[in-house]
Amino acid sequence: MSRWVKNVIGDARGYGGCDRCDDRWNWKKPHTIWYSDAGGMFPLCEECYQEITPQERYDYCKNLWIEWGSPEHVDFNRIAQEVGLQSSTPTANEEVD
Ligand SMILES: [Zn+2]
Repeated sequence: MSRWVKNVIGDARGYGGCDRCDDRWNWKKPHTIWYSDAGGMFPLCEECYQEITPQERYDYCKNLWIEWGSPEHVDFNRIAQEVGLQSSTPTANEEVD
């Protein structure tokens, strides 16, 4: 089955997909990025996650977060660590922008 057909099927069944390549989760493996101990987001598939820089990963998370309506329980310090943007020193007081 072609990639296009698989995505159409995934779309029809209501699956979300990768924000970069648009492949659907019915057949593609997402890369989960934890934003707290209780929850994670997956804006990217495993392949795209490996191909881009930490800053780009972070930006994809931020875009998805905005799509969600900017919920307060999402910890961006945690996300920055998860994607490899900053070391594990939570004292760094960086702007989200
Ligand atoms: Zn992808």
